[in-house]
Order: sequence, then structure tokens, then C-alpha cells
Amino acid sequence: MFYIPLYFVIPELIIFHARYKIVGCKMSTAQKLYQLQEIEQAIESQEKTLSDCLGRLGDSEAVNRLKLRMKTARQQLEGLEQKQHSAEWQIEDIEAKAVAVKNKLYGGQVTNPKELSSLQQEEKVLESQRDRLEEETLQIMEQVEAVTADLAALEDELGVVEREWCSRQEELSAEIGRLKESVSALKEKRQMALSSIDTRTLDYYNRLKKQKVWAVAKVEQGTCRSCRISLSTAELQRARGDKLIECSSCRRILFLD
Ligand SMILES: [Zn+2]
Repeated sequence: MFYIPLYFVIPELIIFHARYKIVGCKMSTAQKLYQLQEIEQAIESQEKTLSDCLGRLGDSEAVNRLKLRMKTARQQLEGLEQKQHSAEWQIEDIEAKAVAVKNKLYGGQVTNPKELSSLQQEEKVLESQRDRLEEETLQIMEQVEAVTADLAALEDELGVVEREWCSRQEELSAEIGRLKESVSALKEKRQMALSSIDTRTLDYYNRLKKQKVWAVAKVEQGTCRSCRISLSTAELQRARGDKLIECSSCRRILFLD
């Protein structure tokens, strides 16, 4: 019975068995291409991880955020301390004035009732000013205490975050080193894989790769792993042969173990 295959075989891609013998390799072309693809997939995946690691190396957002909060707290503390000193100086000034008034009042030098009454009034005003300032100073001191405690807590937190960050950076640097070595080894492996495949096959592979991202599809249990279509017996037979066969559905090169 005459059979018209669903797949189509590109004539220039027919690789003869003799060729394998020439290059001294037992692998089929599809297998070599599949191996090349696996290496290229590993390179792509590891380069992506490497780029992620490099992105995470350097400044820490958490450390920077804490440092900014500490800077704000220190500025707040500075402002409060200035306010506290200013209030304390005003209290000293008022107390000095009050002493002078008391000396006049009770020193016996002033006898004029009007003048005495005025001095008493002045004494009351000074006492009231001092009470208000003392109240203010107490409130400022409470605020200073709270901000100082916040600052100490932030310092502790920064210490923990910085230590964790440093350790992560060390791990990250080691991981980057490992990935760089691995990518470089994979690239060498890729060069070796490339050197075992002829130029025309490679051109075809690269053309397919451009169109479909990955050019080779593995066949598992009679199914193309890329598009999940069940392959006909004839397709499977062809895929077992020496020629490069495309999947009739996704048009990727089929690789059968
Ligand atoms: Zn397919």
C-alpha cells in the first residue's frame, strides 16, 4: 500500500548514517541537537538566575529604610533637646528675676504699698511663667525619652538586618561565583556539541529556534512532548531512522530516545 506521510522531510537535512561514521559519533543528529538544546536551555536558565543574583547584590532596601528612619529620629531628638535647653534657660532667667523681686519685696527697702503690690503681682506672673515652662520641659523630656528609646530599638534592628544582609551578600557572592563557573563550563560544552554537528543542520536548527524558541521536541510514549500530539506509527518509525523528522503538528525536530 502506498503511504503518503503527514510529515515532510527537508531533503538537505537528510543525514546519512555514513556521516556519523565519518565524525566517529554514535549519537543520531536528532540526539546531538537535543543535547545541544538541553545545554542551551541550561545556559539560559543559569544566566537568568545569575542576573537575578547580580540584581540582588549591593544596596539593601531594608538597611536603607532603617537608616532613613534613624536619621529622622536623630533630627527629631536634636530639635527636642534644643527646645529643652531653651526652656531650661528661660526657667533660669525667670528664677533670677524672681529672686530679685523677692529680695525687693522682703528686703525691707521697699515700703510703698503701691510698689509692694506691683512687686507681688510681678512675683505671681514670674511663678506662673516658671510653672508653665516647667510643665513644658517635663513634656519635652518625656518626648526625648520616647525618641531615644525608638532610636535604640532602630539601632538594634539595623544591627540584625545588616548582619543578615551581610551574610546573604556572602552567600549571594558565592552563588554568583558558582553560577559563572557553571555557565562557562556549559558554554564550553556547547562549543563541543556545536563542533559535532554540520553547518547545514545547525542553520536549520537555529532557524527553527528563532521561530519556535526551542527547536527539538522529545518523543515520549509515542507523543511529541512539545505539542502533546500522538504521533502515528509511521512518524515514529521515521523518527527512529537517521533522517531529521519534524513533528506534523508543531514542526519541531523529533527526538526519540
Ligand atoms: Zn509537536
